Amino acid sequence: MSGISHRAAVLGSPIEHSRSPLLHNAGYRELGLDDWEYGRFECTAEQLPERVSGLGDSYVGFSVTMPAKFAALEFADEVSDRAHQIGSANTLVRTSSGWRADNTDCDGIAGALRELLAAKSPAGMHALVLGGGGTARPALWTLANEGVAKLTVLNRSDKRAELAPLATAHGAEFEMGDFSGDLEKIALSADLIVSTLPAGVLAGMERQLAHAPVFDVLYEPWPTPLTVQAAANGHRSVGGHVMLAHQAYGQFEQFTGIAAPREAMWQALEKSLS
Ligand code: NDP
Repeated sequence: MSGISHRAAVLGSPIEHSRSPLLHNAGYRELGLDDWEYGRFECTAEQLPERVSGLGDSYVGFSVTMPAKFAALEFADEVSDRAHQIGSANTLVRTSSGWRADNTDCDGIAGALRELLAAKSPAGMHALVLGGGGTARPALWTLANEGVAKLTVLNRSDKRAELAPLATAHGAEFEMGDFSGDLEKIALSADLIVSTLPAGVLAGMERQLAHAPVFDVLYEPWPTPLTVQAAANGHRSVGGHVMLAHQAYGQFEQFTGIAAPREAMWQALEKSLS
């Protein structure tokens, strides 16, 4: 007998480098939840329904990462308002009648913003969001939900039709452009910058862009070229590891029903990055 009665896991592909098991298991250890275990499974979007349904009743929740976040939303029997508005889910929680989907990436982004702005509210600010993919969606939702007045998105392809509602639903002004404009002028008009782009995409543009405090969703290697340039210009930066930790705290609480031991989880993550 393993003694494990409660299980959770992260689903996605590739999944071997995910730090979610480290974060959640550190939380279980800290709280003495010896009958809890958190694992990982390779899972594509197509595999998600079979994977979740086939893993047995001891599984109380799943963290979901790409490419399965849209499939998780589709699969769920119940969807939180924010996951519905964002259009993707990173969390599935077992309920008495099926599975509930949520998106705690918002908690992660809100946590990173709090740290970036030293707890000052972003209400009324102009935020520049770099990228328009899956991570830009919760970023736009969170910024608008926190009262940001204006959102400017720069992306390779024009996605204004799908992204603008995430901002305007909360009353924020929305504009979208690509990287061919006067980047320095746009960046200088922003109060903060959120980069949701994969590594390397900005190569060569950091000098023009790093003119405000930066939250970069990347964290390995850290610091990123954008945040190095921001520091050279006297601006604070926060990395994706802060987002990762905060989205995990929210999931931990939804899975276990217990307040996440944040300090222990953060220490475990920080140790793994050093
Ligand atoms: P997506 O594939 O959904 O979006 C990728 C974005 O990058 C799009 O805006 C895309 O533009 C743009 N892009 C990709 N390649 C190029 C290129 N060659 N030139 C210009 N633009 C390009 O990715 P995600 O949003 O899921 O992930 C983005 C990053 O965020 C990843 O590195 C991921 O690891 C990280 N991440 C970090 C998290 C954390 O907790 N710290 C959580 C989630 C993600 P277009 O729209 O035109 O295709």
